[in-house]
Amino acid sequence: MSKKVKMKCMYCGRTFFRGQGIEIVIGDERFYFHSKRCALKFLQMLLERIPPEVSIPTAKALARELQEAIRKKEEASKKKFA
Ligand SMILES: [Zn+2]
Repeated sequence: MSKKVKMKCMYCGRTFFRGQGIEIVIGDERFYFHSKRCALKFLQMLLERIPPEVSIPTAKALARELQEAIRKKEEASKKKFA
């Protein structure tokens, strides 16, 4: 990407060049933020608006998935040093 495209942070309104900020892709939609902090604030607000009956099972499933990935990584490193 050679041409610099100016973007506006969707959370605080600060402008930045595309590629320097954080991009969140949901389906076909793209959301742009100038910093991780603004992206995180947006995600937190988004989560508050998603019904808990939808977000909680999904969050739990994701946590389980990540735990499993950590467990596998730990097992693999144990084997390496055994
Ligand atoms: Zn921002």
